[in-house]
Amino acid sequence: MKWHEILVRYGEITTKGRNRNQFINRLRDNIKATFKDLDDMKIRLERDRMYIRSSSDEEMEQLIQRLPDVFGIQSFSPVAECPTDLDAMKALGKEIVSTLDYAGKSFKVNVKRSFKRFPLETYELNRELASYVLTELPGMTVEMKNPDIELRVEVREEATYMMVDIIPGAAGLPVGSNGKALLLLSGGIDSPVAAYLMMKRGVTVEAIHFFSPPFTSDQSLGKVKELCQIISKFGGKVKLHVIPFTEIQQTIQQAVPKNVTMTTTRRLMMKISDIVRSETKCKALVTGENLGQVASQTLDSLAAINAVTNTPILRPLITYDKLEIIDIAQKIGTYETSIVPFEDCCTVFTPANPKTKPRVEKMEYYESFTDFDEMIAKAVRNREIHTFPKKEVVSDFDDLL
Ligand code: ATP
Ligand code: MG
Repeated sequence: MKWHEILVRYGEITTKGRNRNQFINRLRDNIKATFKDLDDMKIRLERDRMYIRSSSDEEMEQLIQRLPDVFGIQSFSPVAECPTDLDAMKALGKEIVSTLDYAGKSFKVNVKRSFKRFPLETYELNRELASYVLTELPGMTVEMKNPDIELRVEVREEATYMMVDIIPGAAGLPVGSNGKALLLLSGGIDSPVAAYLMMKRGVTVEAIHFFSPPFTSDQSLGKVKELCQIISKFGGKVKLHVIPFTEIQQTIQQAVPKNVTMTTTRRLMMKISDIVRSETKCKALVTGENLGQVASQTLDSLAAINAVTNTPILRPLITYDKLEIIDIAQKIGTYETSIVPFEDCCTVFTPANPKTKPRVEKMEYYESFTDFDEMIAKAVRNREIHTFPKKEVVSDFDDLL
């Protein structure tokens, strides 16, 4: 089937008032960035919709496959065109419906006739096209209300446009339309899902990861990088800050009672993240935390962790069930990577009986005997920064650089 263009419906963006154009332009820029590998793609904006076109069949195929990952799109439809001539319309209508699994389905033709001088009236055209398609492709019944297959036909003077499929988009808002946040990314199941949900609300995500070699291996860092590569397909570039955390983690083990090492670890992660957040001009911190999943995720524990900063800490998964999170992880393609069994810096140092109700004042007291600030500054200074997506094929020339 040769598709000529794709009609994109905006969805939630259309409810925006004066910012509307900003949102639409952002969506257009995000589509351009997502498909920068396509040479011939052209985008045309109209008030309520966007049209994307390419003269290459392969590029149209790429668009149809990858558009469902772009936030800010409610749905889209591939559109085919033909000359505004009855025989051409019949042939195209039949061709489009024949690509579907039509046998036994209900069917309707829905003509919009903007070209008023076309010799057939709307109802005549509906009837002509429907009876032709029904005769040529037997096995369908006619149904005016909620048919399984609705062939939409728009008759204009310059050409006639037809579509049949409405493909659901990822909905949400275009990434970048709601500022930038820094996500604490572990190699686990939850934090990549948190990234996805933030991106869905239009937030650009940078990531920070705490890495404690040799207690955590290069493979576990590799996993985190792979997760960044995967989530970058939803939100353009993802920058990853890798913080060398070994010295701090070892110091924590000496500095505070065993049962609160986890709480101090989280508090210092948050402190460091807040410094990087401010340097990178992010407006909020994001974690994959969830109420009640593990010891560090009680309300008391969250309060103790929060106390180190006034920055908003967003926890998009706080109320989700684990199974719901796994469902999303599978859908967005991070699950298989997340479950590869490599140690996380937190699991290595997890105490046998972590305190589930740490008190802020007590935590401050325990931590007051150690000067963490210098170590924190050094860790921030020595961080490695990577940008994703990385090119999938690395040429020999790049290897030499
Ligand atoms: P996840 O599946 O995201 O690892 P989890 O259920 O295993 O979450 P924890 O291990 O307690 O829960 O981690 C809670 C949150 O703390 C994570 O979602 C992540 O935001 C942050 N976090 C944990 N470990 C790290 C790390 N090594 N680097 C960066 N952030 C981390
Ligand atoms: Mg974890």
